[in-house]
Amino acid sequence: MHQTAFTYHPDFLAHDTGPGHPECAERLETIHQHLERRQILGRILPLTPEAASLEHIRAHHTPAHINKIAQLSTANGPVALTPDTIGSPATFQTACLATGAVLQAIDAVMEKRAVNAFCAVRPPGHHAEFNQIMGFCFFNNIGIGARYLQSKYHIGKVAIIDWDVHHGNGTQHSFEEDPSVFFFSIHQSPHYPGTGARREKGRGPGQGFTLNVPLAAGVGNSEYLKVFRTELRQALDVFKPDFILLSAGFDAHRDDPLGNMQLTEEGFGMLTREVVNLARDHCCGRLVSVLEGGYALAATAASVETHLRVLMDSQI
Ligand SMILES: [Zn+2]
Repeated sequence: MHQTAFTYHPDFLAHDTGPGHPECAERLETIHQHLERRQILGRILPLTPEAASLEHIRAHHTPAHINKIAQLSTANGPVALTPDTIGSPATFQTACLATGAVLQAIDAVMEKRAVNAFCAVRPPGHHAEFNQIMGFCFFNNIGIGARYLQSKYHIGKVAIIDWDVHHGNGTQHSFEEDPSVFFFSIHQSPHYPGTGARREKGRGPGQGFTLNVPLAAGVGNSEYLKVFRTELRQALDVFKPDFILLSAGFDAHRDDPLGNMQLTEEGFGMLTREVVNLARDHCCGRLVSVLEGGYALAATAASVETHLRVLMDSQI
């Protein structure tokens, strides 16, 4: 069994957000070229993604939401769907491929071909509501992954950890009434999208299964690490997940233009170690990490390298 699987596809570059948009194809190109240059790719299990089936996407999104994205295929060029979210003729296929990459990474871990996996995908997913395109996101890749773990593999308890600098509103809202999915988000506040207050702890039977840790701008490695070692550790030691999914945005990096935090690539490595330890202690190391944000090209690529090195070196 490989330690770490990695999924990437050049077709992820086809989703065109128009000139000057931060969520651009160069993000993934830079990551891939950086990992090649640093000779990481030869040491991991490569996965070739295929588009997710509509059956799996429908488990999370309404038909109207899916149709709206599918209809982009007939557009003549980039279309502004919200003030900040741009779709293009290739967006539907690219979004299906990004979701499919996550499902295949889950398959690789569940079939014991790898202990953990990182999915270098775009478009990102955690802002996508079950019926709303939002914040550069179309399909909620990680949310669909959680449903897939439950339906295909009968995984009882899934923990989703979201360290993107923005609150994972779409993911939270999809699972806030569901005690089988624990959602943790650490994010800058106040900041886009405006949700993720401490008082948001889940609803109904899901009360207590959402943990939001909003942090003021300017927070760095040591404060993040403290939260992971205390609040997150305590919560998951109680929840005892059977599988961990990680919404790995790298826009809390100090160089990122869309955040105001102070994390470094070494900080992301330390946070990865904490998540790997949680997966080791609760679910035989089973962890699938999915790229969300990260808009400083070089800093994101360097942070992904650090993240992958810890995933690869974890001893289960
Ligand atoms: Zn973000």
